[in-house]
Amino acid sequence: METNALWREARQRLRASLGQKDFETWLDPVRLRLDDNRAVLQVPNRFFASWIRERYWQSVSQALSQSAGTDLELGLEISQMEEAEREKAPVVPLRAVAQFNEPPLLNPIYTFDSFVVGKCNELAFAACKAVADQPGRQYNPLFIFGGPGLGKTHLITAVGNEILKRQPGAVIHYGSAEGLSNELIQAIRFDGLARFQEKYRQVDCLLLDDIHFLAGRERTQEEFFHTFNALYQAGKQIVVTSDKMPKEIPGLEKRLRTRFEWGLLVDLQPPDEETKVAILQKKAAERGLDLAHRVAHFLARQPEGNVRVLEGYLTRVIAISSFQQVEVTLELVQRVVGPLVSERQVSIDDVLSAVAQQYGVKVADLKGSRKTRDVSLPRQVAMYLARRLTRASFPEIGRSFGGKDHSTVVKGVKRIQELLRENPELAEQVRVAERALTERRFMVGPRPSESGV
Ligand code: ADP
Ligand code: MG
Repeated sequence: METNALWREARQRLRASLGQKDFETWLDPVRLRLDDNRAVLQVPNRFFASWIRERYWQSVSQALSQSAGTDLELGLEISQMEEAEREKAPVVPLRAVAQFNEPPLLNPIYTFDSFVVGKCNELAFAACKAVADQPGRQYNPLFIFGGPGLGKTHLITAVGNEILKRQPGAVIHYGSAEGLSNELIQAIRFDGLARFQEKYRQVDCLLLDDIHFLAGRERTQEEFFHTFNALYQAGKQIVVTSDKMPKEIPGLEKRLRTRFEWGLLVDLQPPDEETKVAILQKKAAERGLDLAHRVAHFLARQPEGNVRVLEGYLTRVIAISSFQQVEVTLELVQRVVGPLVSERQVSIDDVLSAVAQQYGVKVADLKGSRKTRDVSLPRQVAMYLARRLTRASFPEIGRSFGGKDHSTVVKGVKRIQELLRENPELAEQVRVAERALTERRFMVGPRPSESGV
């Protein structure tokens, strides 16, 4: 039987016995060469070779012998196929090429030195240091996961900065998984897939941030999977971050999940109070401010675990102290940050003015006793929100509403609760008011950048 026909038939058997996905990944790229009674598999690289030898030897041998109707001895060789196929790759338009040559966007301030180590992150920190010490050796891939603002981008960037410090010539690629996905789309559109692959396969260290973004993005996952394999088998370091563990990322292909699990998984937890104090003091020092201990403790005692948000508080305090030319004292911080962080951030006065504004009535009307519906409904909405968003008791709310009896407040709150169930329009009005009140604390602070770079 002619080689091509034999391989075609054997491939059909293999596809059926191994399943579409495994077949496509591991056998589709394989070619066959017949050498007397030897069937030689030509594979793209060593990784493929060992993979096929370990997993698919039996199946391939069987499929070939069945198709040939005789026993064939199986051999394996690494071909120059990739090289050849690369050469055939179409010329990429300039526009697309330009983006393939970006320097690594490593934020220089995210280093190991500027990272504060505590119980919450010590394992992740140690793993990152080990990886930077000996890339590709110990923990490959390294998978860092944790909630927003806990230092994932900082740490993965620190790995890159450290490697570059030690080996200035190293080719490091840092990027978000979202960026990877966009770049891939561009590459496909401009016929630049081969270039894209080449670029990623040439790096010494791939740092991919926020990999959870790949959830459900099959094409990017597939491309990343191949890149991963190529880098991994070449002993190149791969570090990824995610807001979830691999098995919790919805729509992450099993084969990628397995690869992440081959390496080391480390997590980042929200910092405890001591660590928060140390982080705040370090961040303040970076900006030339010596943050008093009680001030740092006040901030660290806030329930907020997201370091980015804590940093935002600090930024605001520093900005105000410099605009107003005043010292950063505990009083200043309490005044500036207190309303942003405490649970009781929303005051009854806030509620009164927000509701008055929304319904176009006066605060005095809400506090007054006029019973017409145009003021009684907003008044009761305000009572309801005051009860919901502040810790004030019914009598306290009554007092703030122009000295009303607590039973009036109870009645008002009850009425709104009932109305909300049957009146979607009112429910929406209340939601809008509530959102305006609770989001205020985020609006006054600087909106911290999500990218971290
Ligand atoms: P993530 O990527 O996990 O959302 P980032 O790495 O962007 O979080 O961190 C948010 C901010 O918090 C950054 O400015 C970072 O420097 C800072 N940060 C987080 N954890 C620490 C830490 N342990 N020490 C110093 N800074 C930290
Ligand atoms: Mg990040």
